[in-house]
Amino acid sequence: MKNFIIFGPPGAGKGSQAVILAKKYNLKHISTGDILREEIKNGTKLGLKVKSLMDEGALVSDDIILEIIENVILNAKGYSGFLYDGFPRTVYQFSALDEFLQKIGQRVDAVISLVVKEDVLIRRMLRRAEIEGRADDADINVVKTRIETYREQTEPLIEIFQKRGNYYPLEGDTTIEKNFNEICTLIDSLG
Ligand code: ADP
Repeated sequence: MKNFIIFGPPGAGKGSQAVILAKKYNLKHISTGDILREEIKNGTKLGLKVKSLMDEGALVSDDIILEIIENVILNAKGYSGFLYDGFPRTVYQFSALDEFLQKIGQRVDAVISLVVKEDVLIRRMLRRAEIEGRADDADINVVKTRIETYREQTEPLIEIFQKRGNYYPLEGDTTIEKNFNEICTLIDSLG
């Protein structure tokens, strides 16, 4: 089983790439954001708990996220691996994932990082708000808070990934197709 993390700030294009990559490589796409939005849509207890945090651009607690991830991993059948999208977002989440994968005899094979400048991110999210109708995309202040949250809590992960030697930054300010081809070349080269 392969484990790939698609990494980058909000609006970098992780979700778009993850969907087509998962299809091509038979990976289980795990988007924590999508899972949480589904909970909110269905009005579950969990959805009610996380809604205000998501609306203001803050992170949901590590415990909630880790429970979701473990459940999805343990219940996935018939895949060649996992593609984590929007996870891990904190050093603690990564440590827990790392430990969990070790326990089941797996590891993070590669961190595919989409590098995109801040002004492009902001533009993309505001445009996405019109298409997908996400409340956290529509408000410029929430968009900025999410980028700040990323810089403070998620970006420190890069140093850890680099030390592991499996961190692959790619230019994300390009077309979906070009980006996809570059990622495929990378994955294929990893064997
Ligand atoms: P984006 O990458 O555009 O910010 P996501 O769908 O990945 O969008 O995340 C939306 C929101 O869901 C985040 O702002 C956060 O509140 C919550 N969330 C998603 N994944 C995580 C996670 N791994 N840890 C904590 N909160 C998360």
